[in-house]
Amino acid sequence: MKTTLKTNITIQDICEGFVYNELEGKGLFGLAGKLTIQPEYQRNYIYAETNKEAPVIESVLKGYPLGLIYFNKVSETNLEVLDGQQRITSLGRFITNKFAIKDENGMEQYFSGMAKEKQNRIFETPLLIYECEGTESEIKEWFKTINIAGIPLNNQELLNAVYSGQFVTLGKEEFSNSQNSHIQKWSAYVKGSANRQDFFERALDWVSKGKIGEYMSRHRNDDNISEIKTYFNSVIDWVSSVFTDVEREMCGLEWGRLYEEYHKNSYSSATVAKQVQKLYADPYVKNRKGVFEYILGGSTDTKLLDVRVFDEATKKSVYASQTKTAKGKGMSNCSLCAIGHDANKNKIWDLKDMDADHVTAWSRGGATDSKNCEMLCKTHNRAKGNR
Ligand SMILES: [Zn+2]
Repeated sequence: MKTTLKTNITIQDICEGFVYNELEGKGLFGLAGKLTIQPEYQRNYIYAETNKEAPVIESVLKGYPLGLIYFNKVSETNLEVLDGQQRITSLGRFITNKFAIKDENGMEQYFSGMAKEKQNRIFETPLLIYECEGTESEIKEWFKTINIAGIPLNNQELLNAVYSGQFVTLGKEEFSNSQNSHIQKWSAYVKGSANRQDFFERALDWVSKGKIGEYMSRHRNDDNISEIKTYFNSVIDWVSSVFTDVEREMCGLEWGRLYEEYHKNSYSSATVAKQVQKLYADPYVKNRKGVFEYILGGSTDTKLLDVRVFDEATKKSVYASQTKTAKGKGMSNCSLCAIGHDANKNKIWDLKDMDADHVTAWSRGGATDSKNCEMLCKTHNRAKGNR
């Protein structure tokens, strides 16, 4: 790969003919059309939402360096930005009056309203640019190893770069477009933002059963995304039809796995809604995120709910009173040992050899308080299991 350092290109040059696409959230062209600011393998513009665009302009005004920028020389007349897209888009958006910065007096100032002298200071600032020439794979390999200053690429952004092509372009159009009207619905179940590829990543994760890279590689040159789109929508439609009330804890659950496990069962959404409400109102349920899988699985696996257990003080006091009564009667302090016919019939167990048991099981409405607590020897407690 060949690189050439350019020091004579100014911000004015770069921003000549700057076009910003609001719909896609992308800076498109600069250098009078010669420069493609956001090639396919670049992520969306995220400086605006992370409050990083004003500091870019302030740095320029103070004469601070903006850091190295890398271009890929695609042909004699065409360049594309490898690294620096966020900074260039900030410059272009400022010069086209898309956002304001605060001046010395704390007043909002757009580029067009600035003193000529300040405008010129921005325009005349040269940038440090490396122009690189190499094969697509060289460039991509190298792009993988650089991290954009400030905000490193996340995993999905890297995968998009590595497997760039038709499929990624179409996938991003659907899942990484913050203007997509479905985003609000998706956000109830999937954590993250469109711009940072979180929906695309989840859709890929679900359809590929976790093998995202493999799936992207196999579908790289597909001219459609119907499989991933259909699958993603099936999962979302299924969740929203089974659980008609949207709860905060639903966001970020493994809906792809739950769909695979349970979508063939039938559920009454009215009954399910009542079950959810009941569990949400139950003070003994510690893990609300587990409520949904618990219901899907037929309300049997109480481990998912992390039901509150008896505290040490309760166990000690129940143990003390149980043991006192048992000693008075000359019987075991484990009620199940006491009614048995072996040597443990009269055994007084130590506290450490006993466990607390719900007399009425929690799943049948039994409370986790001393009135519903009985100490049993470990063997009998285990044998009773989770009634
Ligand atoms: Zn026992």
